[in-house]
Amino acid sequence: MTERRLRRALLATARRMGALGLNTGTSGNVSVRFGDGLLITPSGRPYDRCTPGDMVELGRDGTPRGSGRPSSEWRFHRDILAARVDAGAVVHAHSPFCTALSCLERGLPAFHYMVAVAGGADIRCAGYATFGTQALSDAALAALDGRRACLLAHHGMIAIGRDLEAALALAVEVEGLAAQYMRCLQVGEPSVLAADEMTRVLGAFSGYGKPR
Ligand code: 13P
Ligand code: ZN
Repeated sequence: MTERRLRRALLATARRMGALGLNTGTSGNVSVRFGDGLLITPSGRPYDRCTPGDMVELGRDGTPRGSGRPSSEWRFHRDILAARVDAGAVVHAHSPFCTALSCLERGLPAFHYMVAVAGGADIRCAGYATFGTQALSDAALAALDGRRACLLAHHGMIAIGRDLEAALALAVEVEGLAAQYMRCLQVGEPSVLAADEMTRVLGAFSGYGKPR
């Protein structure tokens, strides 16, 4: 994709997060791999009032190219894109159910087989660290080990994907799972699927949605 199209797609994804109810106000941010670095949403700006030119380019080490102020979470966006060859885009949201669960410092166990959508038998909750810090980036990267999504304690969630569309779709999926899990918790603690069943599900998922 050309830089122009990528900037437009990045802004459209950030706006979609609001339209889908994943974020309110200026919370949440998005990035996409670009050249040897990334393009990221600007900090503290309502996306409805941004233009594609407001998206900020960062070099591989996170140095901004241009005058815009990148999202305060540029460290975890930079570090995830550097560490994960499978990631082309990163979505961060304060989506209501993931955030509520993260405030209980709980991740998502295998209460539903669809938890495997994030690549493993559970979706972890990273330990708390102040927003925008390297400590938060380190905690997020550890929680994402072998996974494409995680929660951030007392904060929200992260989803990654091969492109912007996939990262946003996974964020929606994980928020739906968190909503289901929270509803279960209102009645009691749901049982979890056995490890060998989740291994079967993960195996079945590797071919799901692909041509025969
Ligand atoms: P930014 O506006 O700097 O992207 O911050 C929002 C946020 O979610 C911080 O964690
Ligand atoms: Zn945040």
